[in-house]
This record gives sequence, C-alpha cells and structure tokens, in this order.
Amino acid sequence: MTPSTTLSADLFDRARRVIPSGVNSPVRAFGSVGGTPPFLTSAKGALLTDADGNEYVDLVGSWGPMILGHAHDGVVEAVREAAGRGLSFGAPQAGEVTLAEEVVRRIGPVEQLRLVNSGTEATMSALRVARAATGRDVVVKFAGCYHGHVDALLAEAGSGVATFAMPGSAGVTAATAKDTVVLPYGDREAVTSLFAERGGEIAAIITEAAPANMGVVPPLAEDGVGFNRFLADTAHAAGALLISDEVLTGFRASREGHYGVDGPRGTGEDWAPDLMTFGKVIGGGLPVGAFGGREDLMGLLAPAGPVYQAGTLSGNPLATAAGLATFAGLDDAAYETLGRASNALQQLVADALTAEGVPHVVQTAGTLFSVFFRGEPVRTYDDAKAQDTEAFTRFFHAMLEGGVYLPPSAFEAWFVSTAHTDEVLDRIAAVLPAAAKAAA
Ligand code: PLP
Repeated sequence: MTPSTTLSADLFDRARRVIPSGVNSPVRAFGSVGGTPPFLTSAKGALLTDADGNEYVDLVGSWGPMILGHAHDGVVEAVREAAGRGLSFGAPQAGEVTLAEEVVRRIGPVEQLRLVNSGTEATMSALRVARAATGRDVVVKFAGCYHGHVDALLAEAGSGVATFAMPGSAGVTAATAKDTVVLPYGDREAVTSLFAERGGEIAAIITEAAPANMGVVPPLAEDGVGFNRFLADTAHAAGALLISDEVLTGFRASREGHYGVDGPRGTGEDWAPDLMTFGKVIGGGLPVGAFGGREDLMGLLAPAGPVYQAGTLSGNPLATAAGLATFAGLDDAAYETLGRASNALQQLVADALTAEGVPHVVQTAGTLFSVFFRGEPVRTYDDAKAQDTEAFTRFFHAMLEGGVYLPPSAFEAWFVSTAHTDEVLDRIAAVLPAAAKAAA
C-alpha cells in the first residue's frame, strides 16, 4: 500500500512558496525522480520517520555523515554536553584542537588542518592555497567529480549537477570558467597531453580520491600505478599540486580514513597528495569541513601568511564535539560492521536485479558503493550518463513505497551505517523483489 504523504505534501507546498523548489539543496526536491519528498521529523539508528508517521530504512545517511546511524547516543550526549557550555565562541576552544589532532594523527599527508563549515568551503579554500603557492591560475578537474558548489568547480560536476543534467551553473563568470579545465575521469592520455601543452599554467589537479558523485567509480591502476599516484606524479613534474578531495570518502571508504592510491592505504605506495579536503563524517552530522596538507602550504594561510580564509562559526564547539564523538565510535569493529552491511546489501540488490534480468553493475570503493542501472562497468561520467535512469526511478519509487529511502538520484552513492544490522537488511530484502520487478 502506498504510504500516506498528506502532511509532507502540505509542507512541500508551503516550502515552495518561500524556498526555491522547496528545498535548501537541489537533490532533496526529488526533481529527477518526481513525487513528494518525505519531510522528516526524526531519525534513530538506520530509521527515518516522516511527518505522516511513515518509517523508512535510510540509505542516504544525510549524504554521508551519519556513519554511526542517526541520533547515536554518544554523539547526542557529546553535543548536549557541549551545548550546555556554550553554542559558539568565535574564539579558540579545545575541541577544535583535539579534532585537528585526530585527523593529523590518522592521515599521513595532513600535517596541518583548518576547520571550516562545509565541504564546499574546504575545496574552495584548498584551491586558493594551491593558486597562491604556485602563482598559477588553472585548475584541472574531472567530469563527474563533485567538489561542492565552488564557482571554479561546477563545470561537468557530479551530484545534483549530474542529477539534473546541467553542464555547469549559470552565474559563473567566463573568467572563472576559463581557468578550469575538465578532463574525462581516468584518461591518462588527456592528462599527459594537457600538461605537455599547458603544464606551466596549472596550479593544481583536484580529484575525488574515489569519485562517488556520479555513482562510485573507483580509480584504476595501470601497470601497477594507481590513477591518483599518476596524477600526483604528473602534477609534481610540472610544479603543480594535487588536491585529493576526501569529503565523501574520508573516514567512510576505509578504516584508514583516506582512500589512498589504488584502494585503501597500506598498499605499500608512498604517494601523497599535497592538500586534502574532508567533511561529512568528521562533523558527525553537524556542519564541518576541513582542508589540510603540508605545513609549508598550510602556513600560507592568514594571519601568518598571505592567503585569507576565515569563518564566524569555524571550529564551532558543538560541531567539534559531534565529530570527536563520531571518531570515538569509529573503531575497528565499527568498520567491520560497516563493511559487512555494505557487502551484504550489495549482494541482496544484485541478486534481486539479476533475478528480474535488470541490467546493473554494483561498483565499490572500500565500503562505499553504488548501483548503476547499466550492464557494463562505469569508468567515466559518459558511462554513468548512459545508465537507464528511468529503470532507476521505477526502482526508487517501489523501494520508497516499501519503506526504504534511497538517494533520489541514479548518480549518488548509497550510504550504510553501523546501525544497519541484519534485521534492518532483512527489511530491505523484503522490498527488493517488488522493486526489481518494477525496474524490469
Ligand atoms: N566534495 C565532495 C567529494 C562531496 O561529495 C561534497 C558533497 O557531497 C562536497 C565536496 C561538498 O560538501 P558540502 O556539501 O558539505 O559543501
């Protein structure tokens, strides 16, 4: 039976009058799949509840941060305790030091770190540092990679830009667009020939450590050299930098916290990016981003250096408390649980789609995965766009009706948490046959 969504529909009507498209971030509007987005009232563990009282198993996890599940007791308690001591100081506080120490301790290439309020701010600031350090303007990105809504990085971007088939964004000046070169993901020849032609103009290559905003497209090794390492070597040979965007993969794709070269770190390579960006998991559900890297680069930041970057709420005590409590819950057992849930769900989905003869491919980067409605592997943004988005839409709505909340886009990763227990997976399994039939 289709769940009642009367109260969500009323809220959506009200929202559309005062908020563009009724949402504060585009994919939430269900624009590509149609229908009324449930307006949520609460969430606990792996479950969401909407305004009409419907319950859903969540596979979005607020797009990544909720790695321990919603309203995790330890995180909620830490935020409550921090709130009692003051909501924002606009002055240094111990939590930001401890959170930066945690990241620096866990992530080899990060010697220093600045906290910001979103992944967008992190990539924007890393780009500014890279341009200042090199005295160059051009930045190279890959089609299908999303680095937040930074002017310079919206061209052929993933996530919502991909969901709504936008080539980029209006409102980005021609001067800004001119300094961004977009290349096909994984295309080493294109990288090599661009650097042969314009190497002296390039400040940085920015890449998702494992793209996950056109669906998950892991970097591939060629002749034993991982794509990220190839990018670092090519950039460095030309005096440019590599920015590895781990906003989505960081502390999710692997227990090392860093997706690394061909896969999780520990593969024996000594490759290192110059700058890295983080977000999502490190804020445990509150607004946090971070960028960091070599001390000589981070030392360029004001007030000691010439690169200006600031934030009224940066290093906010509630946000750092949530991030630290999340780190506290992310022990080896947590990553094992996450890996098990991710693998089991991948298998359940693949089995259901196979049983109905629905062309699909499940792609992974560590514990991160997505499902493409396409028979062949997806290596580039063009491949991702060639999937059957209508089959996805039918699948999506059947899952939603059955009480499973998937990302409302064929171009997004699916997110599990440590709260996705066998019992929760059983609930998903019960809905999958009908959804696979709808997709067929
Ligand atoms: N970089 C990557 C890889 C992302 O996935 C995202 C968001 O999804 C961002 C940057 C932007 O982060 P935020 O939405 O916090 O601005």
